[in-house]
Order: sequence, then structure tokens, then C-alpha cells
Amino acid sequence: MGKKIVFICKRCGNEYGNTFKDFSEIPKCEDLHGKRITWYCKNCIEDRQKELQESAFVEEYNGHNIYINELGGYHPYWGSHYYFTTLKDCRARIDNKTCAVVSVGMFGHMNSIMK
Ligand SMILES: [Zn+2]
Repeated sequence: MGKKIVFICKRCGNEYGNTFKDFSEIPKCEDLHGKRITWYCKNCIEDRQKELQESAFVEEYNGHNIYINELGGYHPYWGSHYYFTTLKDCRARIDNKTCAVVSVGMFGHMNSIMK
């Protein structure tokens, strides 16, 4: 009882609270795989997402931003649960949104199973 948990922001090192209200004020940001980014305060989390997006950005194609993940797979948009092993396939997906996802990388595949 009375045990206090303090959360420290990974970026600025400030405490960012220990109540539900504190957490509800933090904007929801996702990483490239669509996983919630955690351990950042509300002042830092959007910057962190922007940093991640800038470092993973490949190109803009037909108005869509394509991002590359740590395994060299191409995501057709930020937070997509699947990716393509070649840029060509990724562009084809953007060109034709109704086409089947064929060359899904293993990581994205496992991710969707575990959801
Ligand atoms: Zn912070």
C-alpha cells in the first residue's frame, strides 16, 4: 500500500506521472509497426514519433509516404501491420489497394497473428 510508481520520460528524463489522468493526456503515437509508443511524456512523444518517421522515411509515392523497417521491409504507410520485401511491391500496393497482400514479411505476419 502507498507504493508510488514514477515514470520517467525516455527523452527528457522528467517524471510524467503515475495516475490514469496523466497517461490519458499523452497523445497516442504509434511506431512503424502500429505498436503504441510508450515511456515518453506528452511533451516528447510526438517529437519521438516524428524522429522515427524521419529516420524510416524512404519516399513519397502517389501521395503516400513509404517507410522502411529495421529488417529492410517497406511499409505503405506509417503504422501498417504488414510490409513488403521490395519497394516495387510496396508501390504496387499503393497503386492498387484492393490487390492481395502477397509478399508479406515474416515480422508483419507474426505481428498480425499475435494481435
Ligand atoms: Zn519528455
